[in-house]
Amino acid sequence: MKRDIFSDEHELFRSQFKRFAQAEIVPKIVGWDEKGMSDRASWKRMGEEGFLGANAPEKYGGAGADFLYDAIVMEELSALRAHGLMMSLHSDICMPYITDFGTEAQRAKYLPGAIAGTTILGIAMTEPGTGSDLAAVQTSAIKDGDSYVLNGSKTFISNGQIGDLFIVVAKHDPRADPPHRGISLFLVEATTPGFVRGRKLDKLGLRGQDTSELFFQDCRVPADALLGGVEGRGFKQLMTNLQQERLCIAVASIASCRRALDDTLEYVKGRRAFGQPIGGFQHIQFRLAELATEVEVGQAFTDKLLAAHVRKEQIVSEVSMGKWWTTDLQKRLTSECLQLHGGYGFMREYPISTDYADAAVQSIYAGTNEIMKRIIARNLGLDLC
Ligand SMILES: Cc1cc2nc3c(=O)[nH]c(=O)nc-3n(C[C@H](O)[C@H](O)[C@H](O)COP(=O)(O)OP(=O)(O)OC[C@H]3O[C@@H](n4cnc5c(N)ncnc54)[C@H](O)[C@@H]3O)c2cc1C
Repeated sequence: MKRDIFSDEHELFRSQFKRFAQAEIVPKIVGWDEKGMSDRASWKRMGEEGFLGANAPEKYGGAGADFLYDAIVMEELSALRAHGLMMSLHSDICMPYITDFGTEAQRAKYLPGAIAGTTILGIAMTEPGTGSDLAAVQTSAIKDGDSYVLNGSKTFISNGQIGDLFIVVAKHDPRADPPHRGISLFLVEATTPGFVRGRKLDKLGLRGQDTSELFFQDCRVPADALLGGVEGRGFKQLMTNLQQERLCIAVASIASCRRALDDTLEYVKGRRAFGQPIGGFQHIQFRLAELATEVEVGQAFTDKLLAAHVRKEQIVSEVSMGKWWTTDLQKRLTSECLQLHGGYGFMREYPISTDYADAAVQSIYAGTNEIMKRIIARNLGLDLC
């Protein structure tokens, strides 16, 4: 079915990105997966070609275009299984914190490098002791003269090894009541003394991503590293921007589902058993027909979310619905498609095996699917029960 949210200009941009990706991304994917991280040169090339700042303000080198351009890059990277290059984390999750909440000096200092792909971004929220319960973070950022001194540990941080600048969630007031009022966000450069990169973590899937530990050991940053320059706004800033982060996951999930389904359709047409292609068995036809239906339904809802997001509507609850539903579908679909590959599905040389492993995390990060359902339930008025 033709998707109606994209204009001819969007489709032209998609073709340009596909050409670029075939020439410059595809040859790198296996290497990223083996090494466990992407490479700086690829980020720079993405920046040079305008694929990191499509949605960023023109004033700092972006194209000032709508979010659909970034969604196109996300979809195409997902379809290629180029998970090592976390463009959406950089451009659509981290960059907006600086664009939306940064001071003019912070925007001027960091956005041009981020858009050019020379300043790679990450966000450090999660800690060994807390993930879903963000208000419980323990990392502190205590004011000392005209600096803040950060102490604490973060874990599971994407771009942890390659990143140059991290948005760090910390408590400027560890005794604040309620605790979320004590949270601020800080822009911490990776070259700051006391910023220490820990292990690159060994993961089940997304093997091309450098998910890492980070440590802050008396890490002194200037007072103007406080995002937006006002203490205590961190929690609100996080809650505001999580809508886009979760929409990114839904967009990537549906694109990944489509790729896994297409590969499986090809497989069942070629694989023979009992004298016929296995795709001729009615059970397999029905399962694939059902999955194809779910992908179309998921795509239609995700496109509706995208259109509403571009119109700047507040759709926190609906995006939460999209995030849990699409990622849940991705997990079921990749499991079923692996099954349809038989033993070959379990072999690493068949991409469905990595699709299955990569899908597992989609219901966990950017807010677990249980947290998504809590948000929806709250919006249904069920918190009062
Ligand atoms: C590959 C990967 C990349 C990541 N990248 C980043 C990153 O770049 N930056 C970053 O800051 N973090 C990142 N994370 C961390 C991720 O956001 C957290 O893992 C996630 O928020 C869950 O937190 P947790 O692991 O502490 O689980 P917990 O919060 O301990 O949750 C454990 C289980 O309890 C459930 N649960 C918790 N509270 C409730 C509740 N109130 N009601 C019902 N169920 C509940 C959860 O849904 C989950 O099933 C990444 C994680 C992974 C695996």
